[in-house]
Amino acid sequence: MRGSMTMLSTETVIRCSDPKVAAIAEKVHRGERLTCGDGLALYETPDLWSVLDLANLVRRRMHGNVAWYNVNRHLNYTNICALSCHFCAFHRKRGDDGAYEYTIDEIRAEARTAAAAGATEMHVVGGLHPWHPFEFYTDMLRAIHEEAPRLHIKAFTAVEIVHLARISKRGGDGSDGIREVLLELQAAGLGSLPGGGAEVFDDRVHDEAFKGKIRGDAWMDVHRIAHELGIHTNATMLYGHLEGRMERLRHMELLRSQQDATLLAWAGQQGIATKNAQVVLSGPDECYPSLRLPTVDTCDTGYYQTCIPLPFIPDDSVLERLYGPTGLENMRTLAIARLMLDNIPHMKTFWIMQTLPASQLMLEMGGADDIDGTVVWYDITKVEGEGTHQEVTVQDLHRVMRESGLEPAERDTLYRRVTRNDAEWSVR
Ligand code: SF4
Repeated sequence: MRGSMTMLSTETVIRCSDPKVAAIAEKVHRGERLTCGDGLALYETPDLWSVLDLANLVRRRMHGNVAWYNVNRHLNYTNICALSCHFCAFHRKRGDDGAYEYTIDEIRAEARTAAAAGATEMHVVGGLHPWHPFEFYTDMLRAIHEEAPRLHIKAFTAVEIVHLARISKRGGDGSDGIREVLLELQAAGLGSLPGGGAEVFDDRVHDEAFKGKIRGDAWMDVHRIAHELGIHTNATMLYGHLEGRMERLRHMELLRSQQDATLLAWAGQQGIATKNAQVVLSGPDECYPSLRLPTVDTCDTGYYQTCIPLPFIPDDSVLERLYGPTGLENMRTLAIARLMLDNIPHMKTFWIMQTLPASQLMLEMGGADDIDGTVVWYDITKVEGEGTHQEVTVQDLHRVMRESGLEPAERDTLYRRVTRNDAEWSVR
């Protein structure tokens, strides 16, 4: 039963059966920032439809009818890893069944294949290989760049960057080497950082589920330095394992604070009004016109482009005893992330982990504006079957978007529109 009605300007009418959600809807209407307490109320309310409606309202304010995708290829260059995170079913030790590592020549071949298939992006992540020297990673980037100069290389989670800083010994004089390593990777062809490895920024969860991996503050430091160097990044949240809902909300709050710090100067240049050192991009048109979202052309610092909530998939991990989140919890979490993360332009449903049917719902009514890409091979998680061949075609993506009444728009990694003419593509 959906009772009290909240008028949201001329945009839409949200009917809320829960008075707490009705009060939050008023804040969303005014473009006010939500608190973690608001987020918890959105998690606890039985009125899931209102939560989805609010997220959809914000998504349409920011992106109208557009749904983004890209034509990409994933390269997981090795699954051999020095660590053994409890939630991870991907890692192997050298000599284990299924352990693999690509050579530079094999990586070259992958780049050629990706470019020939029309990909605009190569997404490169792997385990923390115990023996590869730092030069392997710069050679890998140069090899991809030589074979396919137009491919944008989005590579290395913050955990890998910290690993590379350690093995490269680039630091010294009090520096941990992160900046030096990012500069060398950038010179070798690195275009941006993906957002993996964040998990949930909470020390208890860290110690129970992924001890040995960097903590949240170190993860955020890598992204802060990347932003200072003009490198754009994304942010994930792997949820549904040992964390609670409030820990997810604090994770979102930390990302939001860091994004505020990054975007404040840009907001000043754009004449965007800010209060309390906050940059809220998700308000109504009169306080925030959607055309003023930061883009690579208008913002010369790096920033978090998109957030990607990732549901934990327990199969074959040490935490296999857990159930993992349900479909409704996934819908709710993505919608709440859209509402809480008011200064991150995009919200992605990663169809590989959410499934394509659920991603369609999230695009249509749950706050997502992006579905990732055509992917092809993805070794890290598999929601169906044993294979790592996980490909959708552009036609598949168009179909799920059009069926939802959305306009499919191909983007490059930096959210510029891609136009195609036969085998040629360009951005604008
Ligand atoms: S999550 Fe990453 S760092 Fe942890 S075991 Fe898996 S591959 Fe290694």
